[in-house]
This record gives sequence, C-alpha cells and structure tokens, in this order.
Amino acid sequence: MHESKDFVSLYHDRYCQKHNLRFFILGRGSNCLFDDRGFDGCIILNQIDFVEKIFPATYRVGSGYAFNQLGLQCSKDGLTGLEFGTGIPGTVGGAVYMNAGAGGQETADVLKSVEIIMVDGRRKTFRRSELIFSYRKSPFQHMQNFVAIVSATFELASLSSSRERQKLYLESRRNKTQPIGERSAGCVFRNPTTTSLSAGAVIEQAGLKGVMVGGAKVSEMHANFFINVGNSTSADMCSLINIVKEQVRQKLGVDLQEEILYVPYN
Ligand SMILES: Cc1cc2nc3c(=O)[nH]c(=O)nc-3n(C[C@H](O)[C@H](O)[C@H](O)COP(=O)(O)OP(=O)(O)OC[C@H]3O[C@@H](n4cnc5c(N)ncnc54)[C@H](O)[C@@H]3O)c2cc1C
Repeated sequence: MHESKDFVSLYHDRYCQKHNLRFFILGRGSNCLFDDRGFDGCIILNQIDFVEKIFPATYRVGSGYAFNQLGLQCSKDGLTGLEFGTGIPGTVGGAVYMNAGAGGQETADVLKSVEIIMVDGRRKTFRRSELIFSYRKSPFQHMQNFVAIVSATFELASLSSSRERQKLYLESRRNKTQPIGERSAGCVFRNPTTTSLSAGAVIEQAGLKGVMVGGAKVSEMHANFFINVGNSTSADMCSLINIVKEQVRQKLGVDLQEEILYVPYN
C-alpha cells in the first residue's frame, strides 16, 4: 500500500478543514462533468494504488486502483463477479461510490467490506452487511462526516469460464454497442423505473440521436452517451442534457434523471 499517498490525502482533508476549503475526491473523472470555470477548491486525485490477495478469491484493493485492471485480473485468475469491470474506465473507489455495474453485475454484489476515512481523520471499516446499495447508489453518497473510500475488499467465486465471459462481454456487448474511443462520461441518464425501456432506448424513441448543441452530441451509436465531438464546453453538455430531458418528457412522458455528476464551480 502507498501509505504516503494515503497520508497526503489525509493531510489535504485536514488542510481543507482548517482553511475552510471545499474539496473533491477525484478517481478518473469518468463519471463527472466539471463546470467550464473549473472548481473553486481543492481536487484530491486518488492514487491509493495497490492490490493484495488475502485468500485465493479475496482481494483487498486500494481505491485508486483501476477498476478495469481489477476486472481483468480477477477473470484471468478464474474468478467471477467483476468481469463487467473491464469495460469501466474508473477507479475502484469510483466504482464503489457509484455502485458501478453492467450486464447484470454490480460492484456491491461482490463487496466484502469497505474502508473509509472520516473528516476527523479516523478510518472506519464497514462490512457489506452494514451497507445498503441500490442501482448506481451507495451509502457514501449521503454519509455524514465521510471523506473518502480508502480501500475495498472483494470476495469472488471460482468459475473456470470467467475469462471467456469477460472477453465475450467486452467484444459482443460493449465494443459493438457503445462509442468506445469517443470522449464521453459514459451513460448520461439512469435507466428509468417507469418504463421497461432503457434510457438509451427512450432517447432514441424520442428521435434525438445525433442532436447537437455546440460540440456536444447525442451519440448515433448509443443514445445515452453524449460525446464531445469538437470543443464542447460544459455549458454545451448541460444544454444538451436539458433539451433531451425536456423532449423525452414532452414526447414520451418519461422523466430522466442524470447518472453523470455535474461538479459545480462553487
Ligand atoms: C466509456 C464509459 C463507459 C462507462 N460504462 C459504465 C458502465 O457500464 N457502468 C457504470 O456503472 N458506469 C459506467 N461509466 C461511468 C463511470 O466509469 C463509473 O461511474 C465509474 O465507477 C466512475 O469511477 P471514477 O473513478 O472515474 O469516478 P469519478 O468520476 O472520478 O468520481 C465519481 C464520484 O465518485 C466519487 N469518488 C471517486 N472515488 C472516490 C473515493 N475514493 N472516495 C470517495 N468518493 C470517491 C467522486 O467524488 C465522484 O462523486 C462509464 C464511463 C465511461 C466514460
């Protein structure tokens, strides 16, 4: 474990407290839309980057570790539960915080425990049974005095075909249906609960594929991905999000809610 880096972020938290500065813990930023003016405060880039195999199927992983690397490693080790992770370009901390998921799997399914750091600098470990997760929701999104996820422990199950499952998932699903390689923050909206259609299908049905505001565009390949095709500003993206929400509400009576996180300037 990179204790020094862990210590650095702890130091920053206390520094921010002392100087009354806002701070934001950043993984890879793969689910974030920052304001065009930046962020009036301190961005703490998480680099707690380690993997420890505790038992043959149990890993304790630093929250800054790449989630796609973890998914690949586990699949290669003949373990199932994180195959979907190979397509998610964030960190382990971001995946736990967002309860990232895909293809019927989600992060919380294989979590054993999560170690966090509190505002007063204390560390706390929660067992999975103490934490309530749901679709793209974790208790850390609303936990009082919470600062950051430091590490997560995952308990997986053996499956000889896990590597094949992981490859199939990447090749058949993600690479053919999502605009990989384009600049996006993944799915913009959560799947609605009022219809069996996905958010992407709803946007497509409303005839909004390809709609643009400035350099921001609804992907032709997957309508829930909004891509930066030129020099999109954050304001372009926000306008596009609002237009799509409004049109989908008017045409189909469906209320879409954002999955991406807008990070305001102040
Ligand atoms: C091409 C593409 C495909 C994607 N596909 C999927 C998908 O299939 N499924 C899915 O669920 N998501 C998907 N995403 C969205 C995104 O990758 C996930 O939400 C990911 O888990 C975010 O991780 P991150 O490290 O980038 O978090 P960030 O975007 O950096 O942060 C997201 C939030 O988590 C918080 N956070 C991050 N790390 C910590 C920490 N250590 N402690 C406390 N808070 C923390 C941040 O403060 C922020 O509020 C995709 C994104 C892209 C660009």
